[in-house]
Amino acid sequence: MSRVAPVLPGQTMPDGQPATVGVMGGGQLGRMFVQAAQEMGYFTAVLDADPYSPAGLVSHHHIRTAYEDPAGLAELAQRCHAITTEFENVPAPALRTLAEQRPVAPNASAVAVAQDRIAEKAHFVACAQAGGIGPAPYAVITTDAELAIAPDALLPGILKSARLGYDGKGQARVKTRAELAAAWDQMGRVPCVLEQMLPLRAELSVLVARGADGQVVNFPVQRNLHRDGILAVTEVFDGNVPAALAQQAIQTTQAIAHQLGYVGVLCVEYFVIDDGSADGALVVNEMAPRPHNSGHYTLNACDVSQFELQVRAMTGLPLVQPRLHSPTVMLNILGDIWFRGGNAEAKSPDWAAVLALPGVHLHLYGKLEARVGRKMGHLNVTRATLEQVQATALQAAQILGIAPWL
Ligand code: ATP
Ligand code: MG
Repeated sequence: MSRVAPVLPGQTMPDGQPATVGVMGGGQLGRMFVQAAQEMGYFTAVLDADPYSPAGLVSHHHIRTAYEDPAGLAELAQRCHAITTEFENVPAPALRTLAEQRPVAPNASAVAVAQDRIAEKAHFVACAQAGGIGPAPYAVITTDAELAIAPDALLPGILKSARLGYDGKGQARVKTRAELAAAWDQMGRVPCVLEQMLPLRAELSVLVARGADGQVVNFPVQRNLHRDGILAVTEVFDGNVPAALAQQAIQTTQAIAHQLGYVGVLCVEYFVIDDGSADGALVVNEMAPRPHNSGHYTLNACDVSQFELQVRAMTGLPLVQPRLHSPTVMLNILGDIWFRGGNAEAKSPDWAAVLALPGVHLHLYGKLEARVGRKMGHLNVTRATLEQVQATALQAAQILGIAPWL
């Protein structure tokens, strides 16, 4: 639906309901989105089948149905004046159904591109041809014939399923053609891309927010450390990335958003690879059509958070360029640390000791059960100087049993 006027917070809408924003998906991203919207004065609605979903637990309305349930979608459309998604694997047809009734941001076709690595890489290639950064060398594998002609130069490589991968799932590292064929069999011969394994020097991500009028604002570039395919640490401070690379990454992210006609918060992940130069060279990895784990630091270290910008973009409110006011380190809190010290039984981490440190902000997502590899929360550390923030973050990590990264 085309947008006529902004949905202002606290307003009674023509249908008699208070201005309400809705989100498909009830995970931690939905929860922090709902909290940002409520702070601004919106009512909220979450669609997620799980009665204990982190977002559903804190929302005014929680519609407990599957993503494609016609009654659930109808209720979400009826209650909400603008709708978004926190989960890129929400079926695109469900977003299209909602969009027939209410403004939906990002739109279904942009989400569909991000849901499919084949479409996503094709989009990156098109953007690179217009002057941006390109993806890693890759081949599409959907048939035996494509498997047979995949270039040897892509080995060693990573076979990634085109759909439904996250946190390193749906991926296999392969060194030889035989391993490649076996890995594809193992994945059930679903559509995949084979990517060349690159010598990574660093991983970065960039978050932008784009409005329906085409205005775009950006956060500073995040420097990310992954462990076992899962984000572990994000560091943001002046000079965390060489200035030329940062500028290229921001420009490429803006171009990707513009070329999708994107509305909302978009995250694009990059690799810095060794190419013999002092700074290294950028390669675009993948995008997330939503706020992103690497942007959680914005809740405490910026004057506007990624979640507030998502609310502003989808409701047609003005976007403002965010300002980082403190150097910051974000530590992801995985369920693993409940089981430290070889305990088979879960034991709550020593939050009191962590919270005794200055500049520590604890965010737990209200998940009832800790499991290894499950994202339970994160810790944002903000201090006046880089030295202080790194020292405090390392202390917090040590208390929690998170391995040091410096
Ligand atoms: P996310 O949780 O970010 O959605 P994902 O499962 O979609 O993760 P990717 O981002 O494609 O997966 O890969 C996960 C991690 O694996 C990357 O952050 C990087 O550390 C490593 N990796 C992926 N592709 C390559 C590559 N071509 N060369 C080297 N390392 C890679
Ligand atoms: Mg990734």
